[in-house]
Amino acid sequence: MATQTYKRIPVAVLGATGMVGQRFIDLLQGHPWFELVALAASEQHGGRAYSEATRWRLPNSEMPAEVASLPVVACRPEALPGVKVVFSALPGEVAGDIEEAFAHAGVAVFSNAKNHRMAPDVPLLIPEVNADHIAAIAFQRKERGWPGFIITNANCSATPLVMALKPLQEAFGVRKVLLTTLQAISGAGYPGLPSYDILDNVIPYIGGEEEKLESETRKMLGSWQEGQGFVDAPLAVSAHCTRVSTREGHLECASVELEREASPEEIIAVWESYRPLPQQLDLPSAPEQALIYRREVDRPQTVRDRDAGKGMSAVLGRLRPCPIFSYKFVVLGHNTIRGAAGGSVLNAELCYAQGLLANL
Ligand code: NAP
Repeated sequence: MATQTYKRIPVAVLGATGMVGQRFIDLLQGHPWFELVALAASEQHGGRAYSEATRWRLPNSEMPAEVASLPVVACRPEALPGVKVVFSALPGEVAGDIEEAFAHAGVAVFSNAKNHRMAPDVPLLIPEVNADHIAAIAFQRKERGWPGFIITNANCSATPLVMALKPLQEAFGVRKVLLTTLQAISGAGYPGLPSYDILDNVIPYIGGEEEKLESETRKMLGSWQEGQGFVDAPLAVSAHCTRVSTREGHLECASVELEREASPEEIIAVWESYRPLPQQLDLPSAPEQALIYRREVDRPQTVRDRDAGKGMSAVLGRLRPCPIFSYKFVVLGHNTIRGAAGGSVLNAELCYAQGLLANL
């Protein structure tokens, strides 16, 4: 896609001091279409400079000079004049009302929070999977009387899983999925879990996570039908979610039952040749390959593969027959990039490319 030469769209990050907020700041540096002009978090910061309000926690990078002196303002539309797009990294406890206030004020909201994901008029979007679901935006605006809108991205574990399943669904049909996740500590935000709870340990429970994986997967692999709304895909998903002591990257072990027979070579070919809309449009944050299949017996590995495609690819491996379902495999996704901030930025890029940000 040709580089735009006109003015970039002014954007802000809500929850800018947190784990996902910092990822947003990092990913928006030098963005060709979006200009980061404001940062917001809770009222406690009272307009102090970002460098005073927070410590930079992303590995292998420094706080960008462009944001160090920006004031951290409250998450209210009137505190962010001129902002057309907000990226929300707010906790679920507060995201619902705040995001709605921005949409009501005519702002496009790209959210990581769980609050609106399953709403019947809100797209739960992964551009490589269900780009057509943005058709729900016209309905949402009409129903709610909002000049702006809300688009959510999926749970950080659902994201790589659904990216892996979509081409299988298209080529062979998918009936059942059984999944066990090994999720990184950063998925719990900062400061996350006490070190005494997670070091040398695996915790076989993440509140609400299994339910999200099961419901969000069906919504994203389902369809948007004019006059009918979202129709779930008819597949059964069963998830076990565990927290492990890695820093970033969620590794997932999946078994799938396909509707039609397929050889391992056919499945790998379908994954490797997958070239959905973001790659066709060459969106700025789209990885060259949405899905990368590793042939080594012991890949993907969290620490080696999570940054593939600048953290935006889902990395697959270990495809083999399953004695209970059809096949089993491993998939890995970067939770704070692909599963959070990077996913939201890609959602905004898709909306930009489709003209949805033109008249805000
Ligand atoms: P986090 O590190 O705890 O950050 C939370 C952010 O929200 C901070 O900037 C915090 O700012 C702000 N905040 C807290 N209470 C607020 C309030 N009352 N009003 C305004 N701002 C408030 O959490 P996170 O891991 O970045 O997660 C952010 C969101 O993304 C959550 O909804 C989470 O479920 C979702 N998510 C996270 C991941 C992940 O891998 N971490 C992946 C996908 C989705 P203060 O400095 O003012 O407290």
